[in-house]
Amino acid sequence: AIDSSVKRSTQPRISLKEALNLSKEAADTDPLTGFYNRGKFDSDINDFCREYSEQTTESSLAALIMFDIDHFKRFNDDFGHQKGDEVIKLVAKKVKENLTDKAKVYRYGGEEFCITAYFETINDLVAFAECIRQEIAKLAIRKKQDVNNKRAISASFGLAMLRPFTKSSVLVERADRALYIAKTHGRKDRKSVV
Ligand code: GH3
Ligand code: MG
Ligand code: MG
Repeated sequence: AIDSSVKRSTQPRISLKEALNLSKEAADTDPLTGFYNRGKFDSDINDFCREYSEQTTESSLAALIMFDIDHFKRFNDDFGHQKGDEVIKLVAKKVKENLTDKAKVYRYGGEEFCITAYFETINDLVAFAECIRQEIAKLAIRKKQDVNNKRAISASFGLAMLRPFTKSSVLVERADRALYIAKTHGRKDRKSVV
């Protein structure tokens, strides 16, 4: 019996390289949403800016989209933390359903997300963000099974177009500012571009 178990253990089912890739993937992934995590964002964003400046991408336009779930704390406070998690998952699912293949999504913080993507025109960029915003705005969550206690979910968006030779910190700052404007000045529109 010992012999056979030793024999089995010397024949791994996956290679070391595969195992390393899997663990790297896990280290880059946010478990709640399946999106990339903050660490991955911090290491990717420099490449995103550099590649665009060096024109190694074919698309004419690159952008950072930041969005944040509105009044998220109220879901936690009124419905409980688990329902709060559920809101984040619902939002993530909607985002996944509406992604283009040139987009990467990151969970930047608790209820804040970043998308880096390439577009041909500003219209394409704005339409993409607006589509996701509207899809999220169709969502709602119930407190327990109580049909009368339904609360709508929404998110605000900040869009920043990448200009050549922009430092990643500057791009993030601009998207953050656009998001801040959407939150404070445009609660009705919930989207702003800088
Ligand atoms: P605003 O409309 O201005 O964005 O307000 P807000 O309530 O959405 O934002 P605020 O920053 O006040 O609250 C965010 C809360 O999100 C605070 C934090 O406890 C909670 N949070 C962060 N991560 C998680 C998580 O993974 N799950 C849950 N349930 N809550 C989280
Ligand atoms: Mg919020
Ligand atoms: Mg926030």
